Amino acid sequence: MDTGPVVERRHARDAGIGWIGKNTCILNQKMGSWLFLGVILAGLEVEPERLLPAADRCGSCTRCIDACPTGALVAPYRMDASLCISYLTIEKRGAIPEELRRPMGRQVFGCDICQDVCPWNRRAPVSGDSELAARGELVNPALEWLAGLDSAGFRRLFRNSPVQRAKLSGLRRNVAIAMGNSMDVGHLTRLREWAAGADAVLAEAAQWAIARLSEGKSQDKIQGQSIQGQGGGGHADAGQAGCDRSVNRP
Ligand code: SF4
Ligand code: SF4
Repeated sequence: MDTGPVVERRHARDAGIGWIGKNTCILNQKMGSWLFLGVILAGLEVEPERLLPAADRCGSCTRCIDACPTGALVAPYRMDASLCISYLTIEKRGAIPEELRRPMGRQVFGCDICQDVCPWNRRAPVSGDSELAARGELVNPALEWLAGLDSAGFRRLFRNSPVQRAKLSGLRRNVAIAMGNSMDVGHLTRLREWAAGADAVLAEAAQWAIARLSEGKSQDKIQGQSIQGQGGGGHADAGQAGCDRSVNRP
């Protein structure tokens, strides 16, 4: 019976699958944080001495905290979900707080920056399962192409995909903000169309993006590229990062 959420990572930690990192994800020495957790609820009693919590191997590393664009990792092992780009772009309905829009950069659905920069993911294996393979048309898609999706196109493209959770209206809102942060004035026609439309949340986001684009100064262009640079995540070097990956990895 589905009565409430299960904090899978707590149980995964107790089962020895890994430790909970400073980015709040479960981390496994061989797989990093790129793994799925599944849960089967049973009535078995487990003696505390049978628990096998994995050792914390983050060490002195703070790469995830340093890289988070919105400051959502407010302290080691602590996230303020209301600041997280994944929450903002997937779960949040209505307007995204203005102070978080620039740090969002061009993320239109979710964010993995705090995992991208984690040294434990540098050599994480890539799954050969075709169900998990990246869909070519969705790798760094053009914003204008996403903006042009209608309801039927959205449903067709994202059938059985978590992107549906954002709904087309949420995706458009995110795209409008990304267009503003792109500093590409080629998006102005689309943004003006949205700014005059009936969707109040989208119209406001588009107006914000138009104002952002109109700044049009080279200084902003540099900042926009800087934000994107964080997302690219240049995979970290374990030694520089300060975590104990190098000494614990087999
Ligand atoms: S997913 Fe992105 S926004 Fe959220 S905590 Fe990680 S780096 Fe920060
Ligand atoms: S190893 Fe570093 S980047 Fe990875 S979760 Fe721990 S502190 Fe964050």
